[in-house]
This record gives sequence, structure tokens and C-alpha cells, in this order.
Amino acid sequence: MTTTICVIGAGRMGSSLARTLLNAGRPTWVWNRTAARCAPLVALGAKTANALADAVQASELILINVIDHDASAALLRQEAVSSALSGRTVIQLTSGSARLAREEALWVEAQGARYLDGAIMATPDFIGRPEAALLYSGSLASFEAHRDILLTLGGRSAHVGDVPGQASALDTALLTQMWGGLFGALQGMAVADAEGLSLDVFRDQLSAFKPVVDAALYDTIDRTAARRFAGDAETLASLGAHHSAFTHLLEACEDQGLDQGLPREMARLFREGLSRNGPEADFASLAPLLR
Ligand code: NAD
Repeated sequence: MTTTICVIGAGRMGSSLARTLLNAGRPTWVWNRTAARCAPLVALGAKTANALADAVQASELILINVIDHDASAALLRQEAVSSALSGRTVIQLTSGSARLAREEALWVEAQGARYLDGAIMATPDFIGRPEAALLYSGSLASFEAHRDILLTLGGRSAHVGDVPGQASALDTALLTQMWGGLFGALQGMAVADAEGLSLDVFRDQLSAFKPVVDAALYDTIDRTAARRFAGDAETLASLGAHHSAFTHLLEACEDQGLDQGLPREMARLFREGLSRNGPEADFASLAPLLR
């Protein structure tokens, strides 16, 4: 039997989700607070309703993608909508935290519906592409039941855990790594610029250095997973060696009057790590300081 899907929210992301489903020939209802935003999707074959409860009632799989969890809760917790949820599967694709996902799972299940939490690791233009990853956590059975539809939205989509908050936590964890790199790039550009280097040179040499950086990144993760914190023959660079190079960043910030907020925090972690584990430890030995 073909599953009828309801996409709640026709913003940039919701429209892309609905368009992808429609292009794949999936029967799709759409609903948006401002009905006009549904018009291009209706032109592609979507059905729509004035009342959200009617669109939910007509569907088996409910995908929600609105601006935030408050907006989502205000929509779902209307009496007519919450009573229409019974027997359906709700997939929350609005960005949120692990705590919000846990609370939502309890509430949705109390309405007699199944719940999966999702995190979209892509921009709207990537939806439907083989390389797009949407992460899901919560009921594995619900993921499996709708696997084909979920893989239509992103070829690298995956169920990452049985606990509802895990997809949102992984979203935050992956973005944290990205922000580390982006803030690092901002600081690096300031250092390069202060010594008269062009950002083109910075960009070119960053690209050449990137494989080395990536290798160190995965090595740190693997060593942390194995708790191999002591320096050994495979250590790429000891904590002491990292710190010796790091002091040049502090010096550059001081000499050139650059912002020192981020380097100071890194310096604090280096100090703590060196005093606990000594200069011969692996860089991964800093990991427990952040727990
Ligand atoms: P958008 O601003 O284009 O659309 C927002 C949607 O929320 C619209 O459908 C709007 O009608 C609805 N909305 C806003 N306030 C509402 C309210 N009070 N009641 C009911 N509906 C309301 O945003 P977007 O880019 O489509 O993002 C939607 C969600 O997807 C967000 O949670 C965002 O974090 C997440 N997300 C977006 C991207 C992206 O690249 N755009 C990537 C990953 C995740």
C-alpha cells in the first residue's frame, strides 16, 4: 500500500522535502501557516487543506518542518490535530535539542502515534540527492517501515540510535566540529592578514594542509574511542609539540592586537592537560577535560 505523507511547513526546507516526495511520485499533502506558500507544491500534484487536522487525518506519515519546536507544538497541540495523530507516525524534522526530542517523543506517543526524531544535515538544494544525510533516532521499526521514503529524501540517511534525542545530539555534535573549524578559519585569517598575507594564499595553503588536518582529526577520535591517551610510537604530535607551536598563536595575537578570546580558552585546556598528563601525552589526552 502506498503511504500518504503530510508535510507540515512549506518554508525553504519543507518545500524542498515536499517537492522531492512529489517528484518521486509519493502521494503528499502539504500545509503551511500561510497557505499561499503551498501553491507551487499543489501545482506539482500536492493536496492541501484549510484545516491542518484534515491534512493529518488524510495521511499516515506526518513530516514536520517549521521554524522551531514552539511553532511545531502550537500546531500539533491543537485539540483537532492531536486527536488526528492517533495511529500515525510523526517524524519531527524541525531543528531542536535532544531534550526537546525526548519531550516530544513522550507527548506524541501519549497521543497513540509513533515518533521518530530527525536532523537534517543538508541545505534545501541537497534534499533528494544521494549524498544528503538526514539522521533519525527513536523507533527503529518506524524507520524501517518508512525506509524507502526516508532514503528518497537523502541517500545517506541513517537511523543513528533508539533514543529519540540522539539524532539532535549528533546534529549538535557535528555542527560543533564545523564551528570549531569555521571559528579557527576566522582566527587564522586574522593572523595571516596581520602579517600581510593575502587570503588567497591562506586559502590555497589551507587546501594543501587539509589532508594532514583531517588525518589528525580522525586520529584524535579513534584514540579517544580507544582511550589511547598516552603518547606512543604512533602519536602524530605530542601535547608538548602541539603546545610549543600553539604559543606562536598567543604571541601573534599579542603582537598584532588580535582578539584573544578563543586562543585563551585553548591555552587553558593546554595548561590543564599538560599539568595532568605531561608533554609526552597524545593530543587526544585533552578529551576527558571536556566531559
Ligand atoms: P523558513 O524560514 O524558510 O521556513 C519556516 C517555516 O516555518 C515556514 O513554513 C513558516 O510558515 C513556518 N513557521 C514559522 N513560524 C511559524 C509559526 N509560529 N507557526 C506555524 N508555522 C510557522 O525556514 P527553513 O529554512 O525552511 O527551516 C525550517 C526548519 O528546518 C528549521 O527548524 C531549520 O532549522 C531546519 N533546517 C533548515 C536548513 C536549511 O538549510 N534551510 C537545514 C537544516 C535544518
